[in-house]
Amino acid sequence: MIIDLRSDTVTKPTSGMMDAIMSAQTGDDVYKEDPTVNALEQKMATLFGMDTALFFPTGSMANQAAIKLHTQPSEQLICDKWAHVYNYEGGGVSFNSGVSCKLVDGVRGMITAKQVLESINPPDFYHSPLTSLVCLENTTNKGGGACYDIEEILKIKQVCKQNNLGLHLDGARLMNAIVANNEDTKAYGGVFDTISVCLSKGLGAPMGTVLLGSNALMKNAIRVRKVLGGGMRQIGFMAAAGLYAMDHQVARLEIDHQRAKEISDTLAILPYIKMVEPTQTNIVIFYLEDHLNQNVFMDCLAKKNIRISNMGHGKLRVVTHHDYTQEMHDRFLQTLIAYK
Ligand SMILES: *Cc1c(COP(=O)(O)O)cnc(C)c1O
Repeated sequence: MIIDLRSDTVTKPTSGMMDAIMSAQTGDDVYKEDPTVNALEQKMATLFGMDTALFFPTGSMANQAAIKLHTQPSEQLICDKWAHVYNYEGGGVSFNSGVSCKLVDGVRGMITAKQVLESINPPDFYHSPLTSLVCLENTTNKGGGACYDIEEILKIKQVCKQNNLGLHLDGARLMNAIVANNEDTKAYGGVFDTISVCLSKGLGAPMGTVLLGSNALMKNAIRVRKVLGGGMRQIGFMAAAGLYAMDHQVARLEIDHQRAKEISDTLAILPYIKMVEPTQTNIVIFYLEDHLNQNVFMDCLAKKNIRISNMGHGKLRVVTHHDYTQEMHDRFLQTLIAYK
């Protein structure tokens, strides 16, 4: 038994999901003739109360396309210093869109309306890049699955409106936030101009992200996706997995959150742990006491077939997910308690 807590992307399709994949009706999605992709896009747009949706192979490509739709070369976007779009998309912001990032020193990957306002370059001052977009992340990845207060998002929206800025949400784990806080999908659809939602994280599909937006903004999305090499053919097999995930694997995210909380609470009272970040969803970030070596700790876990992530700068990360069972959970907690 391998207990893989490195990421919620390590899950395999369940038998129900495999059945959905095997029985999917497909067509050529580049011609928009794949009925299952069309159904997934329609379902997601309706769920979030947004005009339209487009299926992408990855979250990075969906975010990169969104940034392209909102900006022109030489412009600048505002994001937290830990943002996925800045740290983990290979520098795509500059490569794909010719855009720079104004990094904000937020808390656990989240920024405030006040910080956004202070980060906007004066539009008449032609020496500095024109600010055109704000990118938020919910839940935050590097911030340990932290969730925004929707009230703060509404304030950020006001700042964006007043300053003519687009507002994009990297919602790779948005369903985790919505389940954890008992929120309404349409509340998000009503405030953001574009939203990306990953089906391959906690939701457990093998691949796929949906980008949501208004007709006006998304008009060019299919062209941008093509340019990025993301046009896919009989991809309804994977859209079927996404549909299955949305129908059957959303409510159970609660279980992942509960187990993450139990891991967090256990770590918090162990003598060799220096600090555990607050745990709101399925990610637990913690630090060992200074005199301990992270690699020794990780090797010791590895010998017991337990895998976790090293995020650098002393951060260790555990992510719970669909394939992390109660049996694995019990064994992991016992291993943590027994560690010397
Ligand atoms: C995983 C993730 C993405 C997308 O990653 P891909 O591997 O390209 O699917 C985007 N944003 C955040 C916050 C993520 O955690």
